[in-house]
Amino acid sequence: MKTKVAIIGAGPAGSAAAIALSKKGIPNILVDKRAVVGIPVQCAEFVGLNINAYVNINSIPSAINQKINYIEVDTGENLYKFDGQGYILNRAVFDLYLAGEAVKLGSRLLTATRAYKINSQKNSIDVLSSEDKISYEIYYDYLIVATGPKNEFDCHKNRAYIYATQVKTDLLKELDSVICYFRPYIPYGYGWVFPKGGFANVGIGIEKPVSSVPLSLSLSKFLKEMRDAGLIGFKILEKTSGLVPVSGLNGITCGNIALCGDAAGLTHPITGAGILSAVISGGLAGDYAAESVKASKNLFEDYKEELESVFKNSLIKASKKRSELYPLMKERVGIDEKIKQLWPSFQEYYN
Ligand SMILES: Cc1cc2nc3c(=O)[nH]c(=O)nc-3n(C[C@H](O)[C@H](O)[C@H](O)COP(=O)(O)OP(=O)(O)OC[C@H]3O[C@@H](n4cnc5c(N)ncnc54)[C@H](O)[C@@H]3O)c2cc1C
Repeated sequence: MKTKVAIIGAGPAGSAAAIALSKKGIPNILVDKRAVVGIPVQCAEFVGLNINAYVNINSIPSAINQKINYIEVDTGENLYKFDGQGYILNRAVFDLYLAGEAVKLGSRLLTATRAYKINSQKNSIDVLSSEDKISYEIYYDYLIVATGPKNEFDCHKNRAYIYATQVKTDLLKELDSVICYFRPYIPYGYGWVFPKGGFANVGIGIEKPVSSVPLSLSLSKFLKEMRDAGLIGFKILEKTSGLVPVSGLNGITCGNIALCGDAAGLTHPITGAGILSAVISGGLAGDYAAESVKASKNLFEDYKEELESVFKNSLIKASKKRSELYPLMKERVGIDEKIKQLWPSFQEYYN
């Protein structure tokens, strides 16, 4: 099989890349190892209103679980509340919608198809269809790697991760805030309760191997505290876990290969948010790949430059602040004063 641009991964980053390419009429193939794009969901699903600059969320009502008006930060000593409008998405619908848009515009989507090798000398990827049990090659002029946090290929790997685990449970109070909790039993990380109608995504994320506390232990303590507070019930409707890269920008390009989304290390090192940056970087990677095809000239170094100009400074700042924030959460000395410089909802963070 042959195409101008191959894209590995049909998450928000890969689908945004495919949409950008197809809008410019460039043939592209999008492969994803999942049988159904977007499932299983490994995300707490909060995204700010600014996603609308890239995807008109209000035009896909089924992709919205609920609207959010505030962000709250609970340090254990104080509860801080900020304006913070956004959505708890239904990621399964959102991801499928984006991939569907790409297909409508002309992208070819191959699901249940895992890319297991990049042959950069031959400009091809080896893929295996788990349905047909057939292995074959896809030849490309340009390759976009949008595989999420764990990139199994040699091109730049993420270096540090937050390990996250989350349940979907019943929510006993009406909430229009996403709440982040800092607790000594969640060392080097934090916990969250993100409401979705009568339910909530409740989870914790901890940096490993810095902390050796088992995730399951922290999560059960967190669930107990939330239950004792009467916020959530006892039903566990879903359980998921996943990785959040926190070491910042990661290589980005390698010859005619460009990385985007989590694969490029674009998640926010403090909050773990990565949906918006996946959509933005995927769109940019697609645009630069399209221009490269049209100009018959590799423009991925320009992609790298633009991506760095958008994300690099804020990611470097966040990485530095994370290294101060997480130990503080464990030791808890002067937490209420210091948190203001270290959590991005506070104005002081930007001073
Ligand atoms: C528990 C948790 C909670 C989170 N909560 C939030 C949140 O509330 N808000 C927020 O903004 N961000 C959140 N994030 C981060 C967010 O989920 C990611 O930043 C976002 O999904 C990145 O999109 P992506 O397209 O880069 O990667 P992904 O969404 O991970 O998509 C990658 C795709 O590539 C496919 N793939 C991988 N390898 C291969 C291969 N070899 N061959 C074929 N296909 C492959 C996968 O199947 C997947 O579909 C959270 C993450 C976790 C783990």
